[in-house]
Amino acid sequence: MANENQKDQLHVFFFPFLGHGHMILTVDMAQLFASRGVRATIITTPLNLPLISRSLQESTALGLAINLVAIKFPYAEAGLPEGCENADSISSQDMFQIFIKATTMLQEPLEQLLQEHRPDCLIAGWLYPWATDSAAKFGIPRIVFHGTGFFPLCVGESIALHQPYKDVVSDTDPFVIPNLPGIEIQMTRMVLPPYLVTDEDTSIAKVFKAAAQSEVTRFGVVVNSFYELEGIYADHYKKVLRRRAWSIGPVSLCNRDSKEKSYRGKRASIDAHDCSKWLDSKKPNSVVYICFGSSTDFTEHQLRGIAMGLEACGQNFIWVVRERKKNEEERGARGQDQGQGWLPEGFEKRMEGKCLIIRGWAPQVLILEHESVGGFVTHCGWNSILEGVSAGVPMVTWPVFAEQFYNEKLVTQVLRIGVSVGTKKWVPVVGDYVEKKAIMKAVKEIMEGEEAEEMRNRAKKLARMAREAVEEGGSSYSDFNSLIEELKGLSN
Ligand code: UDP
Repeated sequence: MANENQKDQLHVFFFPFLGHGHMILTVDMAQLFASRGVRATIITTPLNLPLISRSLQESTALGLAINLVAIKFPYAEAGLPEGCENADSISSQDMFQIFIKATTMLQEPLEQLLQEHRPDCLIAGWLYPWATDSAAKFGIPRIVFHGTGFFPLCVGESIALHQPYKDVVSDTDPFVIPNLPGIEIQMTRMVLPPYLVTDEDTSIAKVFKAAAQSEVTRFGVVVNSFYELEGIYADHYKKVLRRRAWSIGPVSLCNRDSKEKSYRGKRASIDAHDCSKWLDSKKPNSVVYICFGSSTDFTEHQLRGIAMGLEACGQNFIWVVRERKKNEEERGARGQDQGQGWLPEGFEKRMEGKCLIIRGWAPQVLILEHESVGGFVTHCGWNSILEGVSAGVPMVTWPVFAEQFYNEKLVTQVLRIGVSVGTKKWVPVVGDYVEKKAIMKAVKEIMEGEEAEEMRNRAKKLARMAREAVEEGGSSYSDFNSLIEELKGLSN
């Protein structure tokens, strides 16, 4: 319940989808809202709570008004294994369907909290279409966040509306994305999520349809983007697709000091100081950072291919590899890379001083913003793209699934700050296999030569614009203000 001082303060509930990317974005958003005088409450489940509270420690220490409330996740009732409360524990599409179904059971406990706390607004992840009804029951606006940008939102909407994939004969035939402003964008059926191209009413397809429907009835959308990055698509989304939306990003820029930057989402598997020290020893723009987000988990065969590609390209690099099985990790920690399935024999010895492998979780923003980092190999998750843009680094795009293939087009063709590694197929978690040669070629293209320099200059210019956008008077700063003013008007 609100105390006297809090009564006049706008109070916003954040309810993110249970995946690291969404939760990291939420923590950043909550910090942004709180730093501008709004009271923020984040709702999550018990197992995810410590991840968020740890990330928040820095900001609450600064006196920001951010609360954290847990609601029980019904994994047992839904038939999920114990502790399966985060999308990163999902190992198959079937399990994902059950997980999504379990999230619908969160409606009742969420509504109890709305009743108890009476916030002024509910900002909820797009995979909770029912949250629009929940907010309506309490007479407050529901705002959606997708965790993605305007370009992918416009592409997704165009594909769903016009179904251009039905006009081609084979999965590999290219088709043009209809009614999109700017340059012509082509895709194939192979890179589209199967639930989008199927006429069957699978439970996943139903959730996605319900989410699209709740889009139309909700109050608006907050987007982690800035106008200078993808303005024509922001205008298209608002004026042609008639959606209300506010650009408030890049939200990761609210993490100002190295402590905030080094703990985002999970505890980093490397000491931030050691990591910075390693980077300090390298020349500017000489290190490639390779990371595939929180939900990609490559096969050992692919990891070996990456290792060989990186060795062959001759650059310094930091490579983040998701935690492997414990016994394997222990061998790695003792430096015995011989026989480690995913590393070529003697790899770490040969690459000593040139390569830093982080097994687990990296302090990504801290690394990307270091002046030694000159390139980023990314799976094209939206947070990573914006973090790469904010750091001004050219990218090798390696989309795996979700909307990552759309994001790749923005980076390589619209913004021209990256090159594609060449994945051609949407394959959840493990991705389409990429050969060593393709990796080596793509990395060289963003690190060496005139074209790399041009990409770097464009990326640096965007990074400057990103910072200006969130400063007082900038485009995101002003958009945020108009959102707050509107919410205040509604709450009076
Ligand atoms: N991230 C990180 N360390 C890692 C891997 C990821 O800090 O080792 C952060 C990254 O900075 C980003 C988020 O996790 O903010 C991943 O979100 P994104 O949208 O890029 O991808 P997802 O994980 O949702 O596929």
